[in-house]
Amino acid sequence: RGISVVVVGAGPAGLTVGSILRAAGVGCLVLETATREVVEHRPRAGVIEEWAVRGLARRGLARTLLERAQAHTECEFRFAGERYRFGYTGLTGRHHFVYPQQFLVTDLVREYADVRGGEIRFGVRDVRLHGTGSARPAVSYVCPDSGERRVVEADFVAGCDGARGVTRASLPAGRVRLARHDYGVGWLALLAEAPPSSDCVVFGMHPRGFAGHMARSPEVTRYYLQCPPGDSPENWPHERVWAELRERLGAAGAPPLAEGRLIEKRVLDMHSYVVEPMAFGRLFLAGDAAHLTAPIAAKGLNLALHDAFLLGDGLVAALTKGDDSALAGYSDACLARVWDYQEFSQWLAEMYHGTASGDPYRAGAALARLRRLFSSPAAAAEFAERYLGVRTTG
Ligand code: FAD
Repeated sequence: RGISVVVVGAGPAGLTVGSILRAAGVGCLVLETATREVVEHRPRAGVIEEWAVRGLARRGLARTLLERAQAHTECEFRFAGERYRFGYTGLTGRHHFVYPQQFLVTDLVREYADVRGGEIRFGVRDVRLHGTGSARPAVSYVCPDSGERRVVEADFVAGCDGARGVTRASLPAGRVRLARHDYGVGWLALLAEAPPSSDCVVFGMHPRGFAGHMARSPEVTRYYLQCPPGDSPENWPHERVWAELRERLGAAGAPPLAEGRLIEKRVLDMHSYVVEPMAFGRLFLAGDAAHLTAPIAAKGLNLALHDAFLLGDGLVAALTKGDDSALAGYSDACLARVWDYQEFSQWLAEMYHGTASGDPYRAGAALARLRRLFSSPAAAAEFAERYLGVRTTG
């Protein structure tokens, strides 16, 4: 079968692009370094914006998600010993979907490979790109079984291989700009085998550091604890984690935290980057390969899906109708939302981390930012819109 597009990476971005291509009958090959078992069990994101779910549904990719995801309509801020509920659905008419990323990836692998007959090679090694500036680019890789290097030619390459992939490095250095922001803090990302302790996402702003609570499923909850960048998870034994969570998320009338075994514990150094433009010749980047947003505002998966919709639709238009206009505008169209979300993450980061910065000026300003959400209807409406990502359409 002729391969028109090689997609590098079977994360949410790559599998969505592949599924859109297969629905239009376009020949495509997805190359993935991890095994199917690994990609289907890698827990990461869980909050998906409503426009993104509608975008998946329009492309026939949200059947299971719509049956199983929870709808969230509120979040809660805890600071200065008090709880403040923020009902964003009441302000916007829209909600968040909570659906663990590994469930979405599992659904997408099934849809792409098992239902739409897309080819996918798991466990490949040493993926390399060739001639991306030419009319006929190629991707080569080493087969896991034989150890033999294979070369696949195509019309286009979709670089969807995440933050640590290889495709971004194929953009010629003099033709792209890398914008990077380091927040100067770490987050200990935790998954607990414990039911959620609140019916909504909880953000704790505390002089000891930020803490977050996010439901993932009735049995599993994600927690975050601000920590020094580069800290080691070894420094955070079970007792210390739960004592710190109780302290930082404590507030008058708050129910006790349901504790459980910690099944994931890793330190994320909070940083973001954006590559501009997101394309060179016949190589198009999508998702974390092109831009990383620290998980401060839970935006990364949503941006990956936005890119994937535009790239999938653009490639279909180019390959089936000879219409290159969407591909020509692809990078600019993605970057408008990317920068909007980056700026929101930066704004939110100061509200989360200012209290514990050790700088009374930043702490005072962060508190003012928080209080404004509960005293100014205009500030509340603005926050709700940006938290839900409804300012730009999907
Ligand atoms: P990835 O999911 O990283 O997929 C890339 C794929 O490419 C992987 O399968 C990888 O194995 C493969 N690959 C890598 N290198 C190669 C190679 N050389 N060749 C072939 N394949 C390769 N976002 C949200 O929107 N909401 C949240 O609540 C949220 N929470 C998060 C919590 C945590 C702890 C983390 C770490 C991230 C979170 N994110 C969140 C971000 C979100 O998980 C990412 O933005 C999302 O996974 C990006 O999807 P992607 O397809 O671009 O990349």
